[in-house]
Amino acid sequence: MRVVLLGPPGSGKGTHGKGLSAELHVPLISTGDILRQAIAEGTRLGLAAQADVKSGQLVADATVLGLIETRLDLADAANGFLLDGFPRTVAQADGLAALLTVGIGRTLDHVVNLMIPAEAVVSRLRDRWLCSSCGAIYNLSTKPPKVAGTCDLCGSALKQRADDEPATVRARLEVYERETAPLVAYYAQRGVLRNVDASGPAEQVYGAIRRILRPAA
Ligand code: ADP
Repeated sequence: MRVVLLGPPGSGKGTHGKGLSAELHVPLISTGDILRQAIAEGTRLGLAAQADVKSGQLVADATVLGLIETRLDLADAANGFLLDGFPRTVAQADGLAALLTVGIGRTLDHVVNLMIPAEAVVSRLRDRWLCSSCGAIYNLSTKPPKVAGTCDLCGSALKQRADDEPATVRARLEVYERETAPLVAYYAQRGVLRNVDASGPAEQVYGAIRRILRPAA
């Protein structure tokens, strides 16, 4: 099961990806998470990526392709993966196709396109809070934590992402439209695009993705 979750920031790639990863027994690989971890650890990759991530611009294709190549080589990705936030440009999509063909002689099974209007994204991300320890995702209007500022699952403090403030979200949306939206046509041409309306309640969206990835279940 080799799947790409495509969609603008705030479309639910990470939220749904976590559940799907557990259900399908394949790792959820988020280039955003890998980059944020590298930044927190102050590695060479983190230092190189820091300014772009903070301002909502894309990190260089070669950098991201390098980290994906390393990640897909790990044993847990041998039977498949869910990619969240990658590819984000046509060059990254071409690079991924080359990696898969050369590495395992395979192609992607599905590209799930989570469709949501831009206005909905700004308010969703403004209200998004994340657990600083386990990464659980909350939303003050649709999925608030039971105790304000505290993770329901592990009790750690919740935090907001620095790039979720509205001005940076608008920059990320512009970058998405310019660099990433062309991948919708790219994958439609290759016969793997599956469109999902991502603006409804989370359970409904999850169900729609699940029907695509596990039609018999
Ligand atoms: P979201 O999908 O919510 O915008 P991510 O966590 O996927 O956020 O990404 C956060 C930031 O990390 C992006 O704005 C960008 O700076 C960087 N990034 C993540 N994935 C990529 C990628 N595939 N190519 C270039 N930059 C990336």
